[in-house]
Amino acid sequence: KTEEYMTPRRSIAFIGSECYPFVKTGGLGDVMYALPKALVKQNCDVKVILPRYKCIPWEYQEKMVYKGAFEMNLCADGRSFYVGIMEYVWDGVVYDFIDNEEFFGGGNPYTNLIDDIPKYCYFAKAALAALNYLDWIPDIIHCHDWQAALVPVYLRTLFEDTKISSAKTILTIHNLRFQGVYNIPTIRYWSGLPDYVFNKDALKVSYDDANMLKGGLTYSNIITTVSHTYAGEIQTPYYGENLDAHLRYHSGKLRGIVNGIDYDIWNTSTDERLYENYDITNVIEKKKENKRKLQEELGLVQDEGKFVIGLISRLTNQKGLDLVNEILPQIMDEYTQVVVLGTGDSVYEDSFRYYENAYKGNVCSNIMYDETRAHKIYAGADAFLVPSQFEPCGLTQLIAMHYGTVPIVRETGGLKDTVEPYNMFSNTGNGFTFDRYESGLLLDAINRAKTLYFTERECWDEMVRRDMDKNFSWDNAAKQYKDLYLELTW
Ligand code: ADP
Repeated sequence: KTEEYMTPRRSIAFIGSECYPFVKTGGLGDVMYALPKALVKQNCDVKVILPRYKCIPWEYQEKMVYKGAFEMNLCADGRSFYVGIMEYVWDGVVYDFIDNEEFFGGGNPYTNLIDDIPKYCYFAKAALAALNYLDWIPDIIHCHDWQAALVPVYLRTLFEDTKISSAKTILTIHNLRFQGVYNIPTIRYWSGLPDYVFNKDALKVSYDDANMLKGGLTYSNIITTVSHTYAGEIQTPYYGENLDAHLRYHSGKLRGIVNGIDYDIWNTSTDERLYENYDITNVIEKKKENKRKLQEELGLVQDEGKFVIGLISRLTNQKGLDLVNEILPQIMDEYTQVVVLGTGDSVYEDSFRYYENAYKGNVCSNIMYDETRAHKIYAGADAFLVPSQFEPCGLTQLIAMHYGTVPIVRETGGLKDTVEPYNMFSNTGNGFTFDRYESGLLLDAINRAKTLYFTERECWDEMVRRDMDKNFSWDNAAKQYKDLYLELTW
């Protein structure tokens, strides 16, 4: 039928600690949901293995079907634990939940490392044991972040003589900052892994500590990150989070594949959360209406002639908010409004509240998590700020462009890969960018955006349409992952 079905079939087991809509705390949850769905269209059999957290909503829990259970040796002293398998099938993807109340009975998926280290040792080993138990031997095991990083280590040690050992492994880094580092005796005890993996080429990072992510990087066949630029950056000390040397050593198996966005959720023609739906043919007029109604709802001065800058983000250092803070007074003039949506560090929550008060009617700080408001801001703003310190991929700039909102970003990680800087001579590009992490350069980029908006509206409008026209669908990314799976198993 379609071109997709021409490529050979492969079976993939996804192993990770979160997945929308069961449990999500960040971008990892989005990928674990969208990528398997897109891979099914690329002629893949996909099974997603997740912890059965108690906090998964009841509407899903009640539909899970019991698939079996067994006892599994885990710890160095042979202590064993119950492993239950509960299954839920949805949209062609099979979700197998590892059931154990002792580990997954808390209110949140993550608590603190004291609990999380044993939890994810157990999870990694139980996931492999469950695949053997179900006799479902995939071509590829695709693991995500530190919580699943021991999977390749187990596979090449304690599982070497089992059926599952024929599988190839991929470890994807969604954010290098989180690594699962703890003292060696604790990880050695809970994982039950042989002593020789606690050497400096595998898990060991110092005299005292072991690093679960580092172990996964060592033992996996391929490492990927969620953008090309981030794949390069993490090999440098500035971005490498103390693993840069190790990543340089393994750079031959390191790749970058940029994430997509979910076109079912993010679709300007059908998005029910928007004041006015639109598409590329009427974006310019309809965005003005979305802007006016957004201004009305947020209590801003209603004037469609103003340049509205949106910012939707976790309010943490990673996102470059100290730069925004420094220059906000210089951004504000009689032609400009700023709309912020986010929660996080209280320093930033407080400073944005302060600015809302200082620039009443022209700055609106929504210190909350609100999906509906996010959609309205993406549609109603003219420009969108993402000045991150580091950004493995970043979804907000993709959503902004898809909604015809021009991004202003720092040239790092996925931002660099997805936002081509505007070139005034050739009238090409998708947004405004700056390189060094300096507030003056951010201000300069914002001023360049404003200048184009106010003096060459035709060029601005063309950029809006170019942005909407870019393809950020998951199908694109899924094709690249499928190629990688084929390359590994040919
Ligand atoms: P990260 O995963 O580092 O937080 P991403 O850019 O990959 O950053 O993803 C952020 C996602 O969370 C986007 O979909 C964004 O719209 C959403 N988001 C962030 N903060 C909020 C908020 N306060 N309200 C609604 N959505 C938010």
